[in-house]
Amino acid sequence: MSLDTDILVIGAGPAGLTAAYCLAKEGRSVTVIEKDPDYVGGISRTVRYKDFLFDIGGHRFFSKSKEVVDLWGEILPHDFIERPRLSRIFYGGKFYSYPLSAFQALDNLGLLTSAACMLSYMAARARPIAEPKSFHDWVRNQFGEKLFQIFFKTYTEKVWGMSCDEISADWAAQRIKGLDLSVAILNALKRSLHGGKAPASADGAVVKTLIETFQYPRKGPGMMWEAAAAKVTGLGGRILMGRELAGLRFSADEKVWHVDTVGRDGSRATHTTRHVVSSAPVRELVERIKPTPISLLHARALRYRDFLTVALMVDKADLFPDNWIYIHDPSVKVGRVQNFRSWSPEMVPHGMTCLGLEYFCFEGDGLWGAPDDELIALARREIVKIGLVGDGEVLDGCVVRQAKAYPVYDDDYRHNVAMIRLELERDYPTLHMVGRNGMHKYNNQDHAMMTAMLAARNILAGERRYDVWEVNEDAEYHEAGASGAREALASERAVPQRVAADQSAA
Ligand SMILES: Cc1cc2nc3c(=O)[nH]c(=O)nc-3n(C[C@H](O)[C@H](O)[C@H](O)COP(=O)(O)OP(=O)(O)OC[C@H]3O[C@@H](n4cnc5c(N)ncnc54)[C@H](O)[C@@H]3O)c2cc1C
Repeated sequence: MSLDTDILVIGAGPAGLTAAYCLAKEGRSVTVIEKDPDYVGGISRTVRYKDFLFDIGGHRFFSKSKEVVDLWGEILPHDFIERPRLSRIFYGGKFYSYPLSAFQALDNLGLLTSAACMLSYMAARARPIAEPKSFHDWVRNQFGEKLFQIFFKTYTEKVWGMSCDEISADWAAQRIKGLDLSVAILNALKRSLHGGKAPASADGAVVKTLIETFQYPRKGPGMMWEAAAAKVTGLGGRILMGRELAGLRFSADEKVWHVDTVGRDGSRATHTTRHVVSSAPVRELVERIKPTPISLLHARALRYRDFLTVALMVDKADLFPDNWIYIHDPSVKVGRVQNFRSWSPEMVPHGMTCLGLEYFCFEGDGLWGAPDDELIALARREIVKIGLVGDGEVLDGCVVRQAKAYPVYDDDYRHNVAMIRLELERDYPTLHMVGRNGMHKYNNQDHAMMTAMLAARNILAGERRYDVWEVNEDAEYHEAGASGAREALASERAVPQRVAADQSAA
């Protein structure tokens, strides 16, 4: 039978475009469907509003994988700039360096609060909670209640939407290798013990959080993905914007997929293809396969944390030099503030600043569903309240919502993903799951790209030579086998786990 395309790729984010580019370079015909009508890049897109450009979060380009770094250079050879990295904590009207400096922190907090912190620390050490069960218990034991309240509680609860009493104590320990504020605090203490040197991870490398400069496309990460899309089309590939996956069915006789898509205008189309590469969220993919996979229940159990940015345009340059600031004030809902001028001055008109106020939420909750003008008014109020911008300096604003920004690792996610994999890999060897939500992995662009590169190699080889699930958080591929699997697991990004039911009742 005649095929519309050799490979149909779902999603024009980093994973989808990487797969499409690697395959198109080898002369394969590829078609990418992207549900967004305007932007490629997925969560790594750069949004344009009037003369302002901004990211979803901020996207540092950093990878331990030479192959990924080389591909970045190949796609965008002339437009990377090296940017200094600065991110601080803002609490009670003062900045605290990140990673925290213990002496500066105590100095900033003032005599009374510092004394209270020291006393509560001594009290916690003298009478620790015997069996710490929650994140709260664990941090209180290590640092005292007062420091927990100031530097751990608010931000953690804003990001994850859970009380620190519900988050399991194990997570606090796991995060030593992760990238988070608590890590900075732990590192600050370690640094004090090691004469001020940057702390090393278990393998001796300085942890990623502390890298002082980073690479960044001068007009944001979207520049990379627009260039990748242009390369794909330049090689004869097709990118169908505003077209969403509606259903897919495998014809075992013909060994061909029939993929139904729907456009923004409601137009329907069916594409026939040999392979499908999917970076769509696992839950959505499984929902759309016909006949319905048995693992649908597992797919429906996968959860996500969502995210929205209110970009405020401020009539002032050089507000603060940070790329982003963690907001610890419990009286405001904003979790982090990005300063896009600090990411790249080319993203903001001369003499102005664009701040991205980040709110962590769940799709469908009050924040997510609030009208844009209410969210802009909230962001204006909050930024003035915490004192980062003066009243009357905000000229304009806009809202960008990002559904499924973070795949949630709850108690059952690992089992759910394993059941889905088992069924889909057994029944559909020509269906390739790649990327962040495409594999339900809370990882960066480099990881998404590496999984896509390996999927492309499998397609070119005509067999599954590489197990994309063995790519670790650092985008390194580990051959299947006990040690590889262990390493991949050990290097997963730490995401909070709930206190086990029998423990929370205690
Ligand atoms: C706040 C935040 C900050 C981050 N910071 C960094 C950073 O500093 N550095 C870094 O490297 N990474 C960072 N990341 C991670 C990075 O954004 C992701 O790893 C990367 O975008 C994942 O690429 P992907 O292609 O797998 O998925 P996505 O970026 O999610 O792209 C998937 C694409 O598929 C499309 N799609 C989905 N479903 C369908 C469908 N049914 N039909 C058609 N199209 C569909 C989507 O519209 C999207 O365009 C950050 C993420 C967040 C949330």
